[in-house]
This record gives sequence, C-alpha cells and structure tokens, in this order.
Amino acid sequence: MKSNVFILYTGGTFGMKKTRKGLVPSSWDEIINYLPAIKNQNYFDFFSEINFTYDVLEPVVDSSNMNPQSWNRIAEKIKDNYGNYDGFIIIHGTDTLSYTASALSFMFENLNKPIVMTGSQLPIFHPRTDGIVNLSNAIYIAGYQSFDIDCIPEVCICFNDDVLRGNRSIKTSTNDFEGFSSPNFENLAYLEQNITLNHNLIQKRNKANLKLLPNFSENVVNVTVFPGYSPNTLISVVKNQKIDGIVLKTYGSGNLPNTPEWNKLIKACEENNTLIFATTQCPNGKIEIGQYASSEILKSKCVISGRDITSEAALTKLMWVIGNYPYQERHHILSQNIRGEMT
Ligand code: ASP
Repeated sequence: MKSNVFILYTGGTFGMKKTRKGLVPSSWDEIINYLPAIKNQNYFDFFSEINFTYDVLEPVVDSSNMNPQSWNRIAEKIKDNYGNYDGFIIIHGTDTLSYTASALSFMFENLNKPIVMTGSQLPIFHPRTDGIVNLSNAIYIAGYQSFDIDCIPEVCICFNDDVLRGNRSIKTSTNDFEGFSSPNFENLAYLEQNITLNHNLIQKRNKANLKLLPNFSENVVNVTVFPGYSPNTLISVVKNQKIDGIVLKTYGSGNLPNTPEWNKLIKACEENNTLIFATTQCPNGKIEIGQYASSEILKSKCVISGRDITSEAALTKLMWVIGNYPYQERHHILSQNIRGEMT
C-alpha cells in the first residue's frame, strides 16, 4: 500500500561536515546525494511504495540552538501538511532531541499519525555512519502501511534498534550508536531483524481533530539539589516574581535537606503562585512524597509530583502548561498523565 511520508531536515550531526571551527550542518542538497534509496526511489524496491516529500527548517542548526520558537516552526510544518501525509520524519540533532520530542508531544492533542524523530552519531558523509540505518528505520515507522506494520500514532524517537516514546526518552550517550534510552518505560518497538511492536503500550489512534497548543513560558528554572546547595538565591528570584515554575530535581524518591531555607522556599512559592514540579535525580524510579520524612516538606499545594517523568519531559511540560493554561488549571494538568509521559 502506498504511503506519503514528509521528511523535515533541521540539522544535527546527521548532516554535518568538518570545518576549521568544528562540525557544522550542511545543506539538504548535499545530503540527499548520500541517500540514494531516497533520492532515487527505484534504487531499492523497498521504498518504491513511498512518496517522499522533503522540507528544510532554515537555517539548519546544531540542536543546541533549538528553542520554543523552533518547536513552533516544526509544529507548524507538521500541522500545515498533516492532511496530506501518513507519517512525518524529523531529522534533528541528538543533543536536544528528547526536549523537542517531549515538547511536540505536548503541543499536539489528538495525534493520529506517527511523528518520528531521528538523527545520528556519525554524519551521513562518514563511511561508518549510523544515519542511513536510523533514517531507513524511521521511514518504516512513518510509512508503516507500506510495510504492513501497525501505526504508532505518537511522537517517537527511532535510533539504533529502538523506537522510544519521545517524552520518555533521554540522550544517554555521546558516542554509542545506542544513543537514547527510556529508563522508566519499555520500547514502543524493537528494530531487529524483525520489527516488533509493543502493542499494549502504544497510544490508541484518536479520530478527533488535531489541535495545536503552541505556547511555552520561558519563566521556569531547573534546579538540582546537591550537598551544600542553598536555595537562598532561588527564594529571592521567587519573591521577585521572576519565575512561574521550578523543576526541582530532588534526591531519590523526593528527599531534601531538613533545613529552614527549604521551608522558606516552599512558603515563598505558595505566596507567589510559583509551582514546583518535583522530579528525581535518579534516571530510574520515581518520586514518592512521604516515603521518607525528608520528603514531608513537599506536601504543599505548590508542589506537584512528577512521579517517573524525565527531566526533559518535566521541563517542557511545565513550560507548556504555564504557557497555555491559567494558574488555577496548572496544578491539575501537571499532575495528570496527558501524553504517556508519566506512569
Ligand atoms: N551537537 C549535535 C546536535 O545536537 C549532536 C548530534 O546531532 O549528535 O546538533
């Protein structure tokens, strides 16, 4: 069966070339010459059933330059083309790929088609590149109906032999071809000799109209507790009403030092409508407020347990919730599992 697949190139190592200043992204016109199976669809029979359309998010960047405006530009491209394609592929740098994947997952309500994000550890121009395999795998997931695969109507990451839920993923290696993992959630699919889908985990298709909620607040901070850290500077920022939300990376299952400063921080947040989204520093496991006496302090109306959410998903969710909803609704939405981001 024919599939229409939309490929958006945004930059990243996938298309990078060495310069005197280090690696920089090159143009899609150069890259496509290294992708004969896509450039010439009759090169392999496999892709002859797929109609590809390519687009480029200009200027192409190292993904350290991605920000909420870039997320919006990517989302607009998908929204504008949504009706005409069966699946979408976004080629993106790996450094902030999990942030973009998480952000897109929150922005799109009622997603009914795959948005597959991919990239690579070695450029497409390198003889040992992982880019061709990663992109080919992404084509299988986005063009699922041409390969008799079920639809994964989610923002997912295709990297090495993993298909991960985007908002559960983290970049775990700068070097390994297995660059991403999802420590608290099993793979949506495995890309081995056979492609095996974890059907019971994949979100159900939603026939309602796609809705884009595009706003993100940048008035948030990400704070990691460490032995000797004092929240005094944070307290003054909260009191000056400079921030609306804090992702607080606590120890273990939600523990903080038993010092008066931490009580002062919670009080300042309560008085200034600043929300604390509590997450754990451990890649694996979850927040359980009340398990230890050291987490009692988090039993406050300004604190929301992030349970087993990743830092990337916690930050983008907090930015998105503050950007799109009034204060009275934020606590409730943050505490709900809205896109499969927390258990
Ligand atoms: N710095 C690169 C980027 O994120 C890393 C990569 O793509 O692997 O754009």
